[in-house]
Amino acid sequence: MPALEFGIIDRYFRRRAHRDDVRLGIGDDAALLSVPPGMELVAAVDSIVSGVHFPHGSPAADVGYRALAVNLSDFAAMGAEPRWATLALTLPCADLAWVEECARGFFSLAEAYGVELVGGDTTRGPLTLSVQLLGTVPPRAALRREGARPGDLIFVSGSLGDAAEGLAVLQERNTDAAAKPLADRFRRPEPRVALGLHLRGVASAAIDISDGLVADLGHVLEASGVGATLSVDALPLSAALTQRISLESAWQRALTGGDDYELCFTVPPAAEGAARSRAQAAGCSIARIGTVDAASGLRIRGPDGLPYALSSGGFNHFN
Ligand code: ADP
Ligand code: MG
Repeated sequence: MPALEFGIIDRYFRRRAHRDDVRLGIGDDAALLSVPPGMELVAAVDSIVSGVHFPHGSPAADVGYRALAVNLSDFAAMGAEPRWATLALTLPCADLAWVEECARGFFSLAEAYGVELVGGDTTRGPLTLSVQLLGTVPPRAALRREGARPGDLIFVSGSLGDAAEGLAVLQERNTDAAAKPLADRFRRPEPRVALGLHLRGVASAAIDISDGLVADLGHVLEASGVGATLSVDALPLSAALTQRISLESAWQRALTGGDDYELCFTVPPAAEGAARSRAQAAGCSIARIGTVDAASGLRIRGPDGLPYALSSGGFNHFN
């Protein structure tokens, strides 16, 4: 949609340049970016599709926010510094009010993290936003999935299970004030970028929790060639969650619910104190939920110390 496309880009997506490492932003055939000498370039892309990654009819500002948030969360998990983004926007129709709101949500987060939108593409089709995020990390400083070692401690940031319950709240069209913090966790996930940056040199492995703790920790264990033991009573649960559902249901949400975008990371025992003070410096609470084992597989212990079963709905691809 060429004529419309230029109108949309100029009106809603072209902003005054604010980063001095952008030599050429929106407006030419490609952007020109200056990578500081010696730094490694970090690239991630994530697409969000209406009806798949967010409910049809979600507020446009939430959709714009989410498209960038999921990528910032990947950067957090890598300990990478976000700098630049491109946005491929696929729109079913030319709803300018929707685009304006979407841009507002996107830029609210971009500005908070100093990310500059340097290009993109606009096409017609089923509603999809695809953001590519670019940034930097010092050589060999990136946090990866593969560094967990037997004996390492397993931590997660914030609280778990809120977003999955929040999505249920939104789908029920529940407008209880008590349920709003949960819905907000789904609508506006807070990427843990500062925590990721502070964990460089301390965490042995890290991942962000997009698909649920069991699934995402599973990726770390697989990449690292190790196993783990978790205690359900160590899982950090918000008051909003435990006031709304039983402890048992909250544990299931925390273990298998997606969309929290918290970090799960491992730390050698000698670095536990460092991890706690770095998290404090990043302004983020963390909880120790288990230990890395040499034996493969994920063992989950109930409050009585006995093996704890995941309900159907969750899946455990180890045991
Ligand atoms: P081309 O046809 O050469 O790919 P486009 O007409 O698609 O160019 O885009 C023109 C300029 O607008 C480019 O700089 C492109 O990066 C930018 N752009 C297009 N769509 C978007 C978007 N949704 N967000 C940000 N920039 C965009
Ligand atoms: Mg194009």
